[in-house]
Amino acid sequence: MAFFKKSPWLLHYDASSCNGCDIEVLASLTPMYDAERFGCVNIGDPKQADIFLITGSVNHKNVAIIKNLYEQMPEPKVVVAVGICAYSGGVFADCYNVQGGVGSVIPVDVYVPGCAAKPEAIIDGIVKAIGILEEKHAAWKMKGKKAEEAPRA
Ligand code: SF4
Repeated sequence: MAFFKKSPWLLHYDASSCNGCDIEVLASLTPMYDAERFGCVNIGDPKQADIFLITGSVNHKNVAIIKNLYEQMPEPKVVVAVGICAYSGGVFADCYNVQGGVGSVIPVDVYVPGCAAKPEAIIDGIVKAIGILEEKHAAWKMKGKKAEEAPRA
């Protein structure tokens, strides 16, 4: 596992889940599973978040909220879709108001399987997200360095 220099902060959003996956997300943050040992803190402010953790499917009411939260997060950022609903709409996929999984609105970096997703799988997803965040951060820094070094017209 790659070690990110700063503690990655999580933004957890329940798009339209049955709450099954959300209970597991919260369980994975408790001392029993302890995702916080990786420095993760569950915060409510998208402007300070590095990892966007979403449960549930996308519907016509929450699509604008998901986009808005994602756009408020600073670069680099990583999206983790937790559970089968966040992947494809899951058991709600055929509902009149459901448009699909999280990937139909914003780019998803990590999919966590399960219905509900287990805390072990969620922690695995968070660890993968930290590795991806580190890669994106290095690429982002390199891009900034190249822009600084480029000759000015
Ligand atoms: S994947 Fe299963 S447990 Fe999770 S929100 Fe959907 S129906 Fe609920």
